[in-house]
Amino acid sequence: MLCDPIQSRRLFEHALDNNYAILAANADSHAAVTDCLNAAKLCDAPLIIETSLWQLEGHSYGAGDAIRGLSRYIADLAVLADSPEYRSIPVVLHTDHIKGPETMEILGAAIRGIPVTITGNSATLRASTVSLDASEFSDEENIEAISRLAAMAVESNVDVTLEMESAVDEGITPEEVTRNLIGSVEEKYPNAVCLYAPGLGTRHGFSAEGYPEFNSETVQRNIRLLKKITGRDIGLALHGSSGLSSGDLRDAAQAGVVKVNWSTESLMIRSRGAMAFYEDNAAKLDRAHSEWKVTAMDNGVQSHISPAYIDKVSERMRIINSEGKASDFAQTPMA
Ligand SMILES: [Zn+2]
Repeated sequence: MLCDPIQSRRLFEHALDNNYAILAANADSHAAVTDCLNAAKLCDAPLIIETSLWQLEGHSYGAGDAIRGLSRYIADLAVLADSPEYRSIPVVLHTDHIKGPETMEILGAAIRGIPVTITGNSATLRASTVSLDASEFSDEENIEAISRLAAMAVESNVDVTLEMESAVDEGITPEEVTRNLIGSVEEKYPNAVCLYAPGLGTRHGFSAEGYPEFNSETVQRNIRLLKKITGRDIGLALHGSSGLSSGDLRDAAQAGVVKVNWSTESLMIRSRGAMAFYEDNAAKLDRAHSEWKVTAMDNGVQSHISPAYIDKVSERMRIINSEGKASDFAQTPMA
């Protein structure tokens, strides 16, 4: 089922209480979304699907119009996540790394909902949880932007669940920065921020030498600090997980990371799978060949990519201890 903002919040609390993290796959295409749901079903694991500006504006979704892209993305995911086959899996749709001049317009639509009419029936499509790319913001600009998102929800009388980030690629976030960022938003809009992504020593992209700065003590220290600032238990979001070892990922989930973003490795697996498929089948892409149509169709390449991709997604779900947690969450009160 596609979670609303309050169900998403409960899910993050469940993850923190039960020492697991939820894989947040930045799904780059309809086929990738389907594979992620299949892996989640296989593992009985909750799932976060993330979409970023490059998909919303990209050819498969918005084709230049990010809000149209967002409505197509949510509609596609909702059809799948709410179908009988996948309804037992809690699925969160998270907007990730939205930046640039259209940020507030896009995220305003994600929070308030995008009205659509499909074969005469009207519906409102909303994201489950929202974050923006604060990498080019000062701390004060970051506070201002997150506060504006929280204010939009108040003005529209809708619930919102926000992730706030600090400089995720720039080493360990100092305690006073977290106090300022989280404390300032919490004072004006209590309960709106339910995920925090501080710098934990990782970086976006791959790292050949790993992340020696990363350790689970930093995660625990952040959890204690967030509790002190807000009085609430808030889990962490981990960006730049692709270069982390399995051991570090497992420890991170144990220590209080509840959301593990995953993008770089995902793109690599899918693009390399596609390359291998076209290399292996180049001779069939000839109109004289009896199999050229099944080879040329999108289904050909996507079906080839799917098994290895699902294996990898499932493996990561198991590493971060989320296997079996979808049923577990469904049985908790308030879920
Ligand atoms: Zn990120």
